[in-house]
Amino acid sequence: MTIPKEIIVIIQKLEKAGFPAYIVGGCVRDILRNEKPKDWDITTLAKPEEIQKIFPDSFYKNKFGTVTVKTRSSDPTLKEVEITTFRRDEKYSDKRHPDKISFAKTIEEDLSRRDFTINAMAVQLTNSNKHQITVIDPFNGQKDLKNKIIRTVGNPEDRFSEDALRLLRAVRFSITLGDDWQIEKNTLLAIKKLSYLLKEISKDRIRDEFVKIIESPRAAEGVIALHKTELLQYIIPELEKGVGMSQNRHHIYTIFQHSVLSLKYAAKYNYNLNVRLAALLHDIAKPQTKRGEGASATFYNHDIVGAKITYQILKRLHFPKKTIDKVTLLVRYHMFYYDPEKVTESSVRRLLQKVGKENIDELIQVRICDRKGSGVPKAYPFRLRHFKYVLEKVKSHPISVSMLKVNGDDVMKTLNIESGPRVGLILNALLAEVIEDPEKNNRDYLIKRIKQLAELSDSELKSRQKIIEEKKMEVDEELKKKVGIRDLKR
Ligand code: ATP
Ligand code: MG
Repeated sequence: MTIPKEIIVIIQKLEKAGFPAYIVGGCVRDILRNEKPKDWDITTLAKPEEIQKIFPDSFYKNKFGTVTVKTRSSDPTLKEVEITTFRRDEKYSDKRHPDKISFAKTIEEDLSRRDFTINAMAVQLTNSNKHQITVIDPFNGQKDLKNKIIRTVGNPEDRFSEDALRLLRAVRFSITLGDDWQIEKNTLLAIKKLSYLLKEISKDRIRDEFVKIIESPRAAEGVIALHKTELLQYIIPELEKGVGMSQNRHHIYTIFQHSVLSLKYAAKYNYNLNVRLAALLHDIAKPQTKRGEGASATFYNHDIVGAKITYQILKRLHFPKKTIDKVTLLVRYHMFYYDPEKVTESSVRRLLQKVGKENIDELIQVRICDRKGSGVPKAYPFRLRHFKYVLEKVKSHPISVSMLKVNGDDVMKTLNIESGPRVGLILNALLAEVIEDPEKNNRDYLIKRIKQLAELSDSELKSRQKIIEEKKMEVDEELKKKVGIRDLKR
């Protein structure tokens, strides 16, 4: 691996000004594994003000002593390079943020405050044109890298107590670095012993590490590792409820096994984060909705309740609103029918109207994961192909008011009424008819219908747009009580 010239230039400038400078952290680990680093970090004796003097168009982003330097590189991993002053061990009295930053004098001291041996190495550029490298590796990171071992720098219990996010980072690295990585024995024992400390950690930091696990090809192994290390109960305790819980005659796996296996296929097919999360969470309400035992157990409404629980989980982990909405919707509708006997053009149009055209591909992907995760051999059986065929056929059909051949003005003019809620009621009633039969989407017919529908009362009109109402995911009060959904709120 050659060091990019942008990095060499930055180091040369710092050294010329009299400050030792090194490449450090994750990128050193990646260079030594012959992987392309995702970003480049430099550490130096220079203080933030001194770094800024050397690089006039740099900016000082946060109070942790990191200065960002922009380069002209077209490679996105090199566009911004972070330069951080050597730091020393910091106290984390709240287990979240170091109380104050203090600077270190040497690279060795800086390396000693880093989390794992494989992340605690630095590279020094040696000969005069800086093309030779020396690895500074006081904690035998190279050996652990070779043996694929995650081990804390120093005493694991101390290091996890300083910053409990490291508990989760240990699992994250053991998953994202590839196959066969292991967490060293004492490090692993300390994780289990101190797992409860994760409670103290901000949800945003937890979410970022969790997402890295879910986005990796080994996402499913990651969730199993989180369960085994006892960390999962502090991230998504709802998943733990399905551990060891059997389903019914249609399922060979327990709820937890099936959820993890569904995620495994989502990762295998390289589906996006939304689909992966939905695959993991689609049966999240099965433990609460289970009625009866053994072969004939049922899980009525687990999709509806599951959507609610999914919403709560993702909200609690501070996922962006877009992700929350999308994944909740995927869980809500993952049970859509696709048996050829039940699939008609109008049923598919109704489904499209409920879930939105923009979500249908991901919804199908979730269903594929669900199927494969149940142990069936074919991801794409005839039934699903037939469903897709009908879907393609109806995709251009009108499924929203804006696709009708008449609009609000037409309703107002035809009936000589002012704008108001009644206009919307009539348009939606027309849409309900057009969804049943797209042939009806022609102006003459619709204008005629507007006059006829005007005879109906508001409530009669409303009952005609039942389909649209269904879009609002309401769990009725009785069901809420039955599954104790209030108790799930945090
Ligand atoms: P990735 O390639 O996934 O970004 P990374 O190793 O670069 O992995 P970062 O979270 O970007 O991980 O952190 C950069 C470096 O900062 C780490 O390699 C490690 O040396 C140090 N570091 C990050 N977080 C911590 C922490 N919580 N405690 C101690 N050191 C940390
Ligand atoms: Mg990084």
